[in-house]
Amino acid sequence: MKKKAKQRHQSVVRCPYCGALADLRPAAEIYHDDSRDDLLYVCRNYPRCNAYVRVQPGTKQPMGPLANGDLRHLRIRAHRAFDRVWQCGVMTRDAAYRWMADYFCIPLREAHIGQFSEYRCQQLIRKCEDLLWKAGKAS
Ligand SMILES: [Zn+2]
Repeated sequence: MKKKAKQRHQSVVRCPYCGALADLRPAAEIYHDDSRDDLLYVCRNYPRCNAYVRVQPGTKQPMGPLANGDLRHLRIRAHRAFDRVWQCGVMTRDAAYRWMADYFCIPLREAHIGQFSEYRCQQLIRKCEDLLWKAGKAS
């Protein structure tokens, strides 16, 4: 299991895939969407290295380590699995977030799938599918 990133207060952000520095850039530039007004830390080798991460709203702190396409896709899948848990009524949305935080033994404020590692996403998907299956709500 990966240890939590210790560079929370550093302003220097490196890409975990290629080791290059990451620059703060407007998300509109990366997503080609002028309606975006947020910022991203983007690997200097982008787009050759397809890694970036959002900043925490209102700050210049990255949400976590830079994520490549595979990890971003996995987080979308994990979010979909998690949303099914409360959308099908197994528990409320608030209870589902608490359940997830308890499962990973993390504080509720850290229970954000957008910050999860590949390993944690896979665990969450498995856990959600298991819960839905036991509740007779498996798709
Ligand atoms: Zn990179």
